[in-house]
Amino acid sequence: MITFKKVSKTYPNGVKGLQNINLTINEGEFVSIIGLSGAGKSTLLRAVNQLVPITTGDIQVNGRSITQANKKELRAIRREIGLISQQFNLVKRSTVQKNVLSGRLGYYSTFKSIFGLFTKEDYERTVEALASVGLSDKLQTRSDELSGGQQQRVLIARALVQQAPIILADEPVASLDPVTTQKVMDDLRRINQEMAKTILINLHSIPLAREYSSRIIALKEGTVVFDGLPEALTDER
Ligand code: ADP
Ligand code: ADP
Repeated sequence: MITFKKVSKTYPNGVKGLQNINLTINEGEFVSIIGLSGAGKSTLLRAVNQLVPITTGDIQVNGRSITQANKKELRAIRREIGLISQQFNLVKRSTVQKNVLSGRLGYYSTFKSIFGLFTKEDYERTVEALASVGLSDKLQTRSDELSGGQQQRVLIARALVQQAPIILADEPVASLDPVTTQKVMDDLRRINQEMAKTILINLHSIPLAREYSSRIIALKEGTVVFDGLPEALTDER
């Protein structure tokens, strides 16, 4: 469902973020991307929805080329991808409910999103998504009154209401304590297993990647140095 073909990314300053990446990620996989800081993890993740435009090669999402797509097609591709990223954080002064509802805008055509006309179904999906991440009691809470872990779970709920089959999670547990980390990872595991979402996640922690993923991809200097089952990953890398 996501295919990288000879993908390279060179940043304007000459830094090679990715070098000749060839990958196929199938429906329903839980893929962790690991590697040292600067290895290219974020670049790889963000290339999938063209947040980072690639330099050469091609990426296909459900058979549609992301590099050949015009603006309209790119929007359609992005609707199939839920992004959980600190860079696209919550609107702090807005309620949890409003933040999650905004995920519905990613689900609609532009026309609908301009007017922001939310339906009964939008509200129902929002309530459902917040329940699935254990935040039913926080609907009317201001987002900046939540703990870090709760905020990550609101981001997951926002991605869920978008009803995208693919979820990209860019370091969702980077700033969380171990207990909260586990809650967030458990939520991601549950939506992978129960809702059949394909998950692509960046992690710093090898033990976490081992525990939660069906597949691990390790990057080093923009190249894939390991791609396989968690149990096949040795410690030297
Ligand atoms: P990781 O997520 O593994 O820490 P990144 O994908 O963020 O790695 O970065 C890969 C390489 O690309 C690093 O050397 C980083 O400094 C460089 N890089 C990332 N973003 C930019 C950018 N916007 N401009 C220039 N270089 C960048
Ligand atoms: P979790 O483990 O679910 O992430 P925490 O243990 O961090 O939650 O938080 C416990 C309670 O404290 C929660 O009900 C949360 O709403 C509240 N809380 C946490 N941080 C803040 C904050 N900065 N302002 C107000 N309430 C907070």
